[in-house]
Amino acid sequence: MNVAAILKGKGRAVATTRPEALMQIVVEKLAAKKIGAIVVVGANGVVAGIISERDIIRAIAERGPDALTLPVSEFMTRQVVSCGEGDTLDELMATMTASRFRHIPVIEDRSLVGIVSIGDVVKHHIAEVEMEASALRTYLVAG
Ligand code: AMP
Repeated sequence: MNVAAILKGKGRAVATTRPEALMQIVVEKLAAKKIGAIVVVGANGVVAGIISERDIIRAIAERGPDALTLPVSEFMTRQVVSCGEGDTLDELMATMTASRFRHIPVIEDRSLVGIVSIGDVVKHHIAEVEMEASALRTYLVAG
Protein backbone atom coordinates (compact mmCIF):
# COMPACT_ATOMS: atom_id res chain seq x y z
CA MET A 1 0.00 0.00 0.00
CA ASN A 2 1.41 3.40 -0.97
CA VAL A 3 0.35 7.04 -0.70
CA ALA A 4 -1.21 7.07 -4.19
CA ALA A 5 -3.58 4.25 -3.12
CA ILE A 6 -4.51 6.11 0.08
CA LEU A 7 -5.29 9.29 -1.90
CA LYS A 8 -7.38 7.29 -4.37
CA GLY A 9 -9.64 6.33 -1.48
CA LYS A 10 -9.84 9.65 0.37
CA GLY A 11 -9.41 12.22 -2.40
CA ARG A 12 -6.87 14.98 -2.91
CA ALA A 13 -8.53 17.94 -1.19
CA VAL A 14 -6.22 19.75 1.24
CA ALA A 15 -7.30 22.55 3.60
CA THR A 16 -4.86 25.42 3.18
CA THR A 17 -4.36 28.94 4.43
CA ARG A 18 -1.95 31.83 3.83
CA PRO A 19 0.86 32.79 6.27
CA GLU A 20 -0.79 36.18 6.91
CA ALA A 21 -4.20 34.69 7.82
CA LEU A 22 -5.19 35.28 11.44
CA MET A 23 -5.17 32.39 13.89
CA GLN A 24 -8.89 32.94 14.56
CA ILE A 25 -9.64 32.04 10.93
CA VAL A 26 -7.55 28.88 11.21
CA VAL A 27 -9.35 27.84 14.39
CA GLU A 28 -12.70 28.33 12.66
CA LYS A 29 -11.54 26.33 9.61
CA LEU A 30 -10.27 23.43 11.73
CA ALA A 31 -13.56 23.32 13.65
CA ALA A 32 -15.77 23.60 10.54
CA LYS A 33 -13.87 20.90 8.63
CA LYS A 34 -13.34 18.67 11.69
CA ILE A 35 -9.62 18.33 10.93
CA GLY A 36 -6.44 18.70 13.00
CA ALA A 37 -4.05 20.60 10.75
CA ILE A 38 -3.93 23.06 7.88
CA VAL A 39 -1.14 23.45 5.34
CA VAL A 40 0.16 27.02 4.98
CA VAL A 41 0.83 28.03 1.37
CA GLY A 42 2.68 31.20 0.33
CA ALA A 43 1.66 33.61 -2.45
CA ASN A 44 3.92 31.64 -4.83
CA GLY A 45 1.86 28.50 -4.19
CA VAL A 46 4.75 26.78 -2.40
CA VAL A 47 4.19 25.14 1.00
CA ALA A 48 5.47 27.55 3.67
CA GLY A 49 4.47 25.63 6.79
CA ILE A 50 1.88 23.61 8.66
CA ILE A 51 -0.26 24.58 11.64
CA SER A 52 -1.97 22.01 13.82
CA GLU A 53 -4.20 22.10 16.88
CA ARG A 54 -1.06 21.50 19.02
CA ASP A 55 0.47 24.76 17.73
CA ILE A 56 -2.73 26.62 18.59
CA ILE A 57 -2.74 25.23 22.14
CA ARG A 58 0.92 26.26 22.52
CA ALA A 59 0.18 29.73 21.08
CA ILE A 60 -2.66 30.33 23.57
CA ALA A 61 -0.59 28.93 26.46
CA GLU A 62 2.27 31.31 25.63
CA ARG A 63 0.42 34.42 24.45
CA GLY A 64 -3.08 34.06 25.89
CA PRO A 65 -6.29 34.60 23.86
CA ASP A 66 -4.59 37.46 21.96
CA ALA A 67 -2.77 34.74 19.99
CA LEU A 68 -5.95 34.40 17.94
CA THR A 69 -5.48 37.95 16.61
CA LEU A 70 -1.96 37.20 15.33
CA PRO A 71 -0.94 35.77 11.94
CA VAL A 72 -0.42 32.05 11.39
CA SER A 73 3.20 32.68 10.32
CA GLU A 74 4.09 33.37 13.99
CA PHE A 75 3.12 29.88 15.15
CA MET A 76 3.35 27.51 12.17
CA THR A 77 6.06 24.87 11.79
CA ARG A 78 8.24 25.92 8.85
CA GLN A 79 10.27 22.75 8.30
CA VAL A 80 7.49 20.63 6.83
CA VAL A 81 8.16 16.92 6.37
CA SER A 82 6.33 15.80 3.22
CA CYS A 83 6.01 12.58 1.29
CA GLY A 84 5.53 11.56 -2.33
CA GLU A 85 2.83 9.39 -3.87
CA GLY A 86 5.23 6.45 -4.12
CA ASP A 87 6.01 6.37 -0.38
CA THR A 88 4.66 3.35 1.48
CA LEU A 89 2.27 3.08 4.41
CA ASP A 90 5.11 1.60 6.50
CA GLU A 91 7.37 4.59 5.72
CA LEU A 92 4.63 7.04 6.74
CA MET A 93 3.97 5.15 9.98
CA ALA A 94 7.68 5.19 10.80
CA THR A 95 7.97 8.95 10.07
CA MET A 96 4.88 9.86 12.12
CA THR A 97 6.05 7.72 15.04
CA ALA A 98 9.65 8.97 15.02
CA SER A 99 8.76 12.65 14.47
CA ARG A 100 5.64 12.65 16.67
CA PHE A 101 3.26 14.39 14.31
CA ARG A 102 0.01 13.21 12.76
CA HIS A 103 -0.10 14.86 9.34
CA ILE A 104 2.08 14.54 6.23
CA PRO A 105 1.39 16.67 3.14
CA VAL A 106 1.92 14.92 -0.20
CA ILE A 107 4.05 16.93 -2.62
CA GLU A 108 4.78 16.04 -6.25
CA ASP A 109 6.81 18.35 -8.52
CA ARG A 110 6.67 21.06 -5.81
CA SER A 111 2.83 20.97 -5.88
CA LEU A 112 0.63 20.02 -2.94
CA VAL A 113 -1.44 17.06 -4.16
CA GLY A 114 -2.90 15.67 -0.92
CA ILE A 115 -2.43 15.08 2.79
CA VAL A 116 -2.29 11.90 4.85
CA SER A 117 -3.30 11.95 8.51
CA ILE A 118 -2.63 9.38 11.21
CA GLY A 119 -6.31 8.43 10.92
CA ASP A 120 -5.80 7.47 7.26
CA VAL A 121 -2.65 5.51 8.15
CA VAL A 122 -4.33 3.58 10.98
CA LYS A 123 -7.40 2.83 8.84
CA HIS A 124 -5.34 1.35 5.99
CA HIS A 125 -2.99 -0.47 8.35
CA ILE A 126 -5.93 -2.21 10.04
CA ALA A 127 -7.35 -3.17 6.62
CA GLU A 128 -3.96 -4.65 5.63
CA VAL A 129 -3.64 -6.62 8.89
CA GLU A 130 -7.21 -7.94 8.51
CA MET A 131 -6.51 -9.06 4.92
CA GLU A 132 -3.35 -10.86 6.07
CA ALA A 133 -5.23 -12.59 8.92
CA SER A 134 -7.99 -13.65 6.54
CA ALA A 135 -5.46 -15.04 4.02
CA LEU A 136 -3.72 -16.97 6.82
CA ARG A 137 -7.04 -18.42 8.05
CA THR A 138 -7.89 -19.54 4.50
CA TYR A 139 -4.43 -21.11 4.16
CA LEU A 140 -4.76 -22.98 7.49
CA VAL A 141 -8.26 -24.28 6.70
CA ALA A 142 -7.14 -25.42 3.23
CA GLY A 143 -4.06 -27.15 4.73
P1 AMP B 1 0.20 17.11 14.82
O1 AMP B 1 0.55 15.87 15.57
O2 AMP B 1 0.10 16.88 13.35
O3 AMP B 1 -0.96 17.83 15.43
O4 AMP B 1 1.47 18.10 14.94
C1 AMP B 1 2.30 18.20 16.07
C2 AMP B 1 3.40 19.23 15.78
O5 AMP B 1 4.14 18.84 14.62
C3 AMP B 1 2.90 20.64 15.47
O6 AMP B 1 3.86 21.56 15.95
C4 AMP B 1 2.83 20.69 13.95
O7 AMP B 1 3.02 22.00 13.41
C5 AMP B 1 4.01 19.81 13.59
N1 AMP B 1 3.77 19.07 12.35
C6 AMP B 1 2.65 18.42 11.97
N2 AMP B 1 2.79 17.82 10.79
C7 AMP B 1 4.06 18.09 10.39
C8 AMP B 1 4.85 17.76 9.23
N3 AMP B 1 4.37 17.01 8.25
N4 AMP B 1 6.12 18.25 9.17
C9 AMP B 1 6.62 19.00 10.17
N5 AMP B 1 5.95 19.33 11.28
C10 AMP B 1 4.68 18.89 11.40
